[in-house]
Amino acid sequence: MTSAPIFVTLRFYEELNDFLPASRRKIRFRRSLNHNTTVKDVIESCGVPHPEVDLVLVNGVSVDFSCRIKSGDDISVYPVFESLDISAETHLSGRPLRRLRFLADVHLGKLTRKLRLLGIDVCENPELKDADLARIAAESGLIILTRDRRLLMRKEIKKGYYVRSVHPNDQILEVIKRFDLRDSLTPFERCTSCNELLVIVAMEEVINLLKPLTKKYYRNFSRCTGCGKVYWQGAHHKRLLGFVNWVSARTA
Ligand SMILES: [Zn+2]
Repeated sequence: MTSAPIFVTLRFYEELNDFLPASRRKIRFRRSLNHNTTVKDVIESCGVPHPEVDLVLVNGVSVDFSCRIKSGDDISVYPVFESLDISAETHLSGRPLRRLRFLADVHLGKLTRKLRLLGIDVCENPELKDADLARIAAESGLIILTRDRRLLMRKEIKKGYYVRSVHPNDQILEVIKRFDLRDSLTPFERCTSCNELLVIVAMEEVINLLKPLTKKYYRNFSRCTGCGKVYWQGAHHKRLLGFVNWVSARTA
């Protein structure tokens, strides 16, 4: 038995329009469906991943993603309006008590390393298939960063963000602004290779791992508590410091 087609109207607000073709942006448009389905499915069939959505009104009433639509429904879809505001939790210690933790998809390697350089906690595991990535993020409360819309549409995922920019430097600024991370940056405190924290170590502890010129010219070292990589303020440090300052200036 074939059911009669269902007609709904939809309107997407603010940055959710990034996911729509030009002809559907910032207007109310009509969509026909050949079966009864949920709000989540209708929204994602328009190309918008559900973790980007914060509020859905059907005929003016707030509903959750599992709400089943009826013919004639008018659906308004709103993004997460403001960046996650963690500033209210910062007043006691001067630093946020709650840390946001991210899980980046493997195609965002440059973004991942740059965020770690700034002290942001970003896991990454190239071995993981999408299903495992989604499950681990959901279980651990990690926020997925990706440029893969299909990944964000997996139903397990509650928290995720589609990175709009293509260039890693633009991506950095975008993520910092979106998640209000500017006051949470702790540059040079995290390993860019494995994401674990660095600790300051005495030169004697790492001397066997250093090349002759490094031993000669540098005295201050830190070591990753995860992979053991040794860091010092070598020739590349000036360039990295320039990058950190560039980010600070652009996100002020
Ligand atoms: Zn490491």
